[in-house]
Amino acid sequence: MSLLDVSDLEAGYETGQVLFGVDVSVESGELISLLGRNGAGKTTTLRAIAGGDVPDVLGGAVQFDGESLLGLSPYEIARRGVSFVPEDRRCFPRLTVDENVRLAINHAADPLDIETVLEFFPELAEMREKHARNMSGGEQQMLAIARALAANPRLMLLDEPFEGLAPYIVRRLEDIIAEINEESGIAVLLVEQNVAAAVAVADRHYVIDEGRIVETVSTERLREDEALRQRYLGV
Ligand code: ATP
Repeated sequence: MSLLDVSDLEAGYETGQVLFGVDVSVESGELISLLGRNGAGKTTTLRAIAGGDVPDVLGGAVQFDGESLLGLSPYEIARRGVSFVPEDRRCFPRLTVDENVRLAINHAADPLDIETVLEFFPELAEMREKHARNMSGGEQQMLAIARALAANPRLMLLDEPFEGLAPYIVRRLEDIIAEINEESGIAVLLVEQNVAAAVAVADRHYVIDEGRIVETVSTERLREDEALRQRYLGV
């Protein structure tokens, strides 16, 4: 049994079905990427795992540690050990770094302490009193991941963590995500369009196209198979 087992997941919105039988599994401690073009269904897959009222799940199963997550609230899912960092990062702009992390700690069932969290983020540790609204996009992404880590999850879901960030920040985030995964053993499922970044951090990759998983590939194959990248990822 895997830590996360998504099987035959069908989901969509009022406007139509988006996922047509998605299968994704993540083992304990794995760092996995879900790659695909714009609109392929990556965010919808993460939302279906993390809960909430969008999208509508039409069929299939989402099992976490042997238990179904379908129908649970986002809060209940988080309490079971799944942290979700959505694309919009969701930090509190008027709160400081410290307050943002402490708020996440206060809401978690079995949180880490703030010093342990900030050890992974030396940049944030240097700006604990800074308000999130005055931070760069990269710093806010670090803060969003720090908040997710604070809950001490077993699985972190990251929605396009590198999007719109300068290359040196992308590299820094790659290192931080890899370090969290290696040192704390937290499994990570990240969705990306940025193939280079996914290749740099993940052990294994799912490729999604038009709401279906079309390939499951190793980093080596993804690096070497130009035809596959062209066909499904346009790079
Ligand atoms: P992106 O990189 O654009 O986020 P994605 O692979 O994450 O791409 P999704 O966001 O899952 O793709 O979107 C898949 C399809 O679902 C798209 O056609 C999109 O327009 C549609 N969609 C996404 N969110 C909603 C929503 N809240 N209501 C209706 N349709 C939606």
